[in-house]
Amino acid sequence: MLSVRGLEVRYGRSVTALEEIDLDVGPDGVLAVLGGNGAGKSTLLRAVSGTLRLHGGAVAAGEIRFRDERIDRLDPAEIVRRGVVAVPEGRQVFARMTVEENLRAGGLGARSAAVRTAARARVAELFPVLAERATQRAGLLSGGEQQMLAIGRALMSGPDLLLLDEPSLGLAPQMVGRIARIVGEIHAQGTAVVLVEQNATMALEVADTAVVLEVGRVALAGPAAELAASDDVQRLYLGGH
Ligand code: ATP
Repeated sequence: MLSVRGLEVRYGRSVTALEEIDLDVGPDGVLAVLGGNGAGKSTLLRAVSGTLRLHGGAVAAGEIRFRDERIDRLDPAEIVRRGVVAVPEGRQVFARMTVEENLRAGGLGARSAAVRTAARARVAELFPVLAERATQRAGLLSGGEQQMLAIGRALMSGPDLLLLDEPSLGLAPQMVGRIARIVGEIHAQGTAVVLVEQNATMALEVADTAVVLEVGRVALAGPAAELAASDDVQRLYLGGH
């Protein structure tokens, strides 16, 4: 469904953030993207969602295909219309708007009213807490609730591929577990997911395949269970020896 080949991304002339990246996500897959600070994880999501230019970056080589069509030259709104939606790092809900208004804003990207109605029902089922807080300002929610709202807002357009940038960042362990279960449910409902995480334990539990980025290159790739068992991943990302 998503296929990245030979991707190279640069910021300006001097920074090469990604090089020779190849990866695939199947229609019902969850791909975990692991790696330390500055490895290029956010850059990868920006390239797929078309938002690189907003950050001064550009695709210098290679291609990104979604459902066999090139998307690496499309603008972000068109990529959303094709069914790829990102939840950026730091959640970025509209703090002064209510929960309900945030969700409605997400629904503007839906292909049709029917898609929007189905998405609304799905979000209500996945996140009962958002219905309880519908009239509250988003900025007053807890960090975990804001993350749920950010994911719910993204789901409102009925995406086929959801891109999540560090959803567990800054959350208490219990909330990380909740977010992980929600990602699992979203996947079980037929939406593919790319999950960028520093929390490798969480990501490898949820994902079926994984890649490890190191300074802009794919250092390891394979089934999530295999990576979880590998000595390198154990040592570097899972606190093993
Ligand atoms: P983190 O977990 O810290 O967000 P990351 O794996 O997501 O790290 P990126 O943010 O994608 O890494 O950064 C990859 C490289 O690109 C780093 O060397 C970073 O300094 C550089 N970079 C990222 N954004 C920009 C930008 N807007 N302008 C210039 N360089 C950038």
